[in-house]
Amino acid sequence: MAQVIDGKAFAAKLREKVAAEVAKLKADHGITPGLAVVLVGEDPASSVYVRSKGKQTVEAGMKSFEHKLSAETSEEELLALVKRLNEDPEVHGILVQLPLPKHLNSDLVINSIDPAKDVDGFHISNVGLLGTGQKSMVPCTPLGCLLLLRDLHGSLAGKDAVVIGRSNIVGKPMAQLLLGDSATVTIAHSKTKDLPSVVRRADIVVAAVGRPKMVLGDWIKSGATVIDVGINRTTGPNGKDVLVGDVDYDSAAQVAGAITPVPGGVGPMTIACLLANTVTACCRANGLSEPE
Ligand code: NDP
Repeated sequence: MAQVIDGKAFAAKLREKVAAEVAKLKADHGITPGLAVVLVGEDPASSVYVRSKGKQTVEAGMKSFEHKLSAETSEEELLALVKRLNEDPEVHGILVQLPLPKHLNSDLVINSIDPAKDVDGFHISNVGLLGTGQKSMVPCTPLGCLLLLRDLHGSLAGKDAVVIGRSNIVGKPMAQLLLGDSATVTIAHSKTKDLPSVVRRADIVVAAVGRPKMVLGDWIKSGATVIDVGINRTTGPNGKDVLVGDVDYDSAAQVAGAITPVPGGVGPMTIACLLANTVTACCRANGLSEPE
């Protein structure tokens, strides 16, 4: 059976490290990192994420600024809020929770965030910096996956990695990060031919698809590492809601060398990396050396 990669425990350690860095910033420099989260509308999943982001920000000793706007908020109003947050010296990180209601242009809004405060790493400048191997803000979920992989493998150089999914928020930045660590990267998507045989080549599989249990055990090379980013809400045998990943855990765990569970794998890493990015942004804004 595969080793279970305990993202929950890893994320807890990362949050402790962040809290220690925050305490040091306060003690040595009188600076408290601040994170502003903007939620437009009342999407239930987004509301849950925003609540836990606020809670964990405060637990790490940082300032949390929550801006909950109605679903009818105009683009002009949202852009004006982002501008205020860009100019606010107490705010070091800004996150606009996606998806936005359809009448709002997400690209325009994200690209209006000061790239130095773009702790989600979605601003076009940060995307370009990451793609060219320069210092940037790195998207939180792929960063969390990378930290788990580095912890497990040490070096990823020369590993065959297959990323399933090419979204701007997970698949593409994940592929860039793996490439940055000298893995040999294949990006698969809905038009990929014979996906099972592509996946079977991989030493590292990252599944970011949004389809419950799509990746089966017989797609996995023996001993491969499987990182399951998927969060899919389905109905369990007792009629209750259950979360499942994009990987069929039971069959994949028979073959893989290591695997992340859902929940408790990649999920907790995302917010921990968001907190770490906020501290990094705060250090950069104040000309201080960044935490490792
Ligand atoms: P998107 O819907 O934006 O992208 C899904 C990708 O999967 C697309 O590139 C799509 O290909 C590809 N895809 C869809 N069907 C297939 C298929 N049959 N075979 C191969 N590829 C396919 O999703 P996200 O990237 O935003 O999210 C992916 C998953 O990760 C979701 O379950 C989401 O909930 C989860 N997630 C988890 C986070 C966490 O914190 N753990 C954070 C963010 C997301 P194409 O481009 O061709 O359409």
